[in-house]
Parts: sequence; C-alpha cells; structure tokens
Amino acid sequence: MKDTGKIVGEALTFEDTIIVPGFSPVEPSQVDLHSSPARGITINVPVVSSPMDTVTGWRLAVRLAQLGAVGVIHRNMSVEEEVAHVRRVKEAPQEPFHPYETAREGVRISGPVKPTVITDTTGRPAGILLPLGSGPHTFLLEDAEYTARLVQAGVRPSLDGMGRLLVGAAVSPFHAERAVALERAGADFLVTDVAHLHNANAVRALQDMARRVGIPVVAGNIGTREAALDIASKVEAIGGFRVGISSGSICSTGVVAGASMPTLQAVLNVRSALEELGLAGEIPIMADGGVRGPGDAAKAVIAGASTVMGGRLFAGVEESLGRKVRVGSRLYKTYRGMASRGAMEERYASDRYSKPSKQLEEGVEGLVPYSGPASKVVAHMYFGLQAALGYSGAGSIREAWENGLLARITPTGRGEVNPHDIILSP
Ligand code: 5GP
Repeated sequence: MKDTGKIVGEALTFEDTIIVPGFSPVEPSQVDLHSSPARGITINVPVVSSPMDTVTGWRLAVRLAQLGAVGVIHRNMSVEEEVAHVRRVKEAPQEPFHPYETAREGVRISGPVKPTVITDTTGRPAGILLPLGSGPHTFLLEDAEYTARLVQAGVRPSLDGMGRLLVGAAVSPFHAERAVALERAGADFLVTDVAHLHNANAVRALQDMARRVGIPVVAGNIGTREAALDIASKVEAIGGFRVGISSGSICSTGVVAGASMPTLQAVLNVRSALEELGLAGEIPIMADGGVRGPGDAAKAVIAGASTVMGGRLFAGVEESLGRKVRVGSRLYKTYRGMASRGAMEERYASDRYSKPSKQLEEGVEGLVPYSGPASKVVAHMYFGLQAALGYSGAGSIREAWENGLLARITPTGRGEVNPHDIILSP
C-alpha cells in the first residue's frame, strides 16, 4: 500500500507499554522521589491534584502539601474565591498530623509521647492526640495510619521558603489579572488551564501573562514536540509544561473532536523537544490525564515527566470537592470534566475550551467510589512509585529519566500481564 504521508506516527498509551526491569543498586524504600511541579519548586511526592471543581479546593490542597505532594486550586469560580482558597492553604498548619474533628471510640493511649499516638485494640495506629487548648482531638483511623506510614518513610510537608504549605493555582492565559491576584495571595506557581494551548491567541496571551507575574507558570495543555518548541521559544522563562490531551478519565475530546495525544506519548514528545533545546530536566513536565496509579506514574516519569497530575486519583477522597452520594449501601463522590455540561454552565468555565466557548461538551459527569482519606492515595502513590522505579533500576527521578526503559507490549501480552484466569474476590 502506498505511504501517503498522512499517518505520521504512533501514539503510545500507558497500557501499550511496560517498564523494563533493570539492575537496581538500591532497595525500593531508598528510592528518592523528590521532584519539581514547576521550575524552582521542590516536593517530596511527585503527585499533583488537578484543578477541577470536583477535586481541588483548599482542603485537598492543604492535605496534599502536608503529605509532601501539592494541589492546584481550580478556577471555576470568581477571582476573589480562588484567592481565598490560596490564602487558606498558605495559612494552614504544616503539621501532617492535623487534628480530626471526630473522636473515635474504642481507642487507647499507647504512650506519653507528644503528640501521642493512639492505637486501636490490634495495636494499629488509630490517631494522634494533640495537646490543644480546646482539648484532645483524634484523626480518622485510616488517615492516621497512612499519615504515620508516610512520616515514618521520611516524607516531609511541601513548604515554601517561609515554612508555609505550597500551593498552585489554575488560570486561563487570557486572565492576567487573575494571575496577578493569585500571586499576591501567595500562590507558589500557576498552571494554565486550557485544553489546547498551542493556539495563536492563547500563546500570545500567555506571553503577556508570564511577563506580568514573578512566579513560575506551567503551560498547558500541549501534546506535541512542535508545541513545546514553539511555546518555549515565544514565552520567557516557562515554568513547566502540562502535557497530555484527551487522556483524562472524564474527557470526551477524543470522541467528539477526534483529537488526542495520550499522556505517555505527550511526555515523550515534549521531552524530546526539551532535549533538543538543552532544557531537559530544567523545565519540568507534568503528565496530566489517565494516570490510574503508581505504575502509570512511573511510566510517565521514565518517559521524562517530573510529576503526574491526577483528577480521578483524588476525586473519591474525603477532602475532594465532589459531593458525597449514597447509592444503596455504597458511598460515591461526584466527579465531572471541566468541559462537561454541568461545569460549563458555571460562569467561569466557559473559556477553558477556547475563547469564547466552543459550545461543545468535551467532558462527562458521573460518580466515583468514595475512597477514604487523601493520605491513603498519597501513600499508595509514594510506595508504589518507589517499587516501580526500583524495578526499573532507578534510585531517583533523575536516574529514571536517564536509565529507565519502557517496552511496547502486544494486546495479548497486556492480557497476560493483567491478573487473569481467576475470579477476583469481591
Ligand atoms: P484524570 O486524572 O481524571 O484521568 O484526568 C484529569 C485531567 O483531565 C485534568 O487534569 C485535565 O487536564 C483533563 N480534563 C478535565 N476536565 C476535562 C474535560 O472536561 N475534558 C477534557 N478533554 N479534559 C478534561
């Protein structure tokens, strides 16, 4: 068949690849995961929550920063409201053992340490008793358990130079005033929030916005080498790239518009552009969309990402902005795309998918199972990433970029790699 030049390559997804096991000089528990969500900013757990109105407000952002990760406040609200969310994070205590409002019964005090660890009757950590003026408070059982595991592993809160929790905030590149207000409120970095940044008007607007703020601006979303080269050449001191188009769990762009660049391929593309510019490792890549767990996150890192951004990952947690819904005996939380009908109906979402809105829904709305405290997800990502990078032979994110390898797997191989020939226990 004649090559018409119309098919320009392959677009690999997380599912298409596996991590190639490599010789590891260190134990997984020694793998160092510190990384940068934006230029000049360091966190311990390379995971960022999506700026979505069912995911990240101050409450989740506080908890993530206390646990070594970071959140990006969504922008589907007025400037004043978004500023208030940022301020609340900056004023929150950095202590990961945050007092929980409800005391649990059936716990006993295990020792006179300060703060005191309380255990349940099996000896598992159930909470932390803090000597506060208003009397003792305890954490939710699970929260205390996962927080304790992270703290014991050496994870420290994500802090700015003044010892306050780190926080990012979403902006449209067309709203420089919002960007300035968020910087004044104390946001540590900004993340542009448009589905297709590689657009003449959006890039021009971003050039102007980046000149007006002093904090790093993570530019996205993009998916190609050309977009990275073009934007890096036009926008001064880019603070990072947010990459991946249409891989999000709530995204329908790939169906309604047919356009997509799966997150893994987008990372590979942008990494190759940054290598060409001699900026690989200096401009952080945030892999955004479709990350289901630490295995996907590790693949993104090996491909060249500094951090992964997750919406679905955090949508079900107690601290997300989604509403709790009971269906029968099960608990769920609402989760919706920012270009879903519901989100677009809210005033400030209308410019996310071009200016003005394309009048096209590119996201869906639904429910995800309630999944407990955010600390459980952070711990799963942290220990899972350590294990995954351990398999790849890397002792750090940088080593994963340099030495980690991925291989393509066939669809039949994927079937073999996933659990098979067993009826899973409920
Ligand atoms: P998830 O982690 O749930 O797989 O993907 C979350 C990401 O999907 C977000 O960070 C954002 O980049 C993207 N996203 C959020 N809402 C929408 C939407 O309505 N449509 C599209 N195409 N992408 C969305």
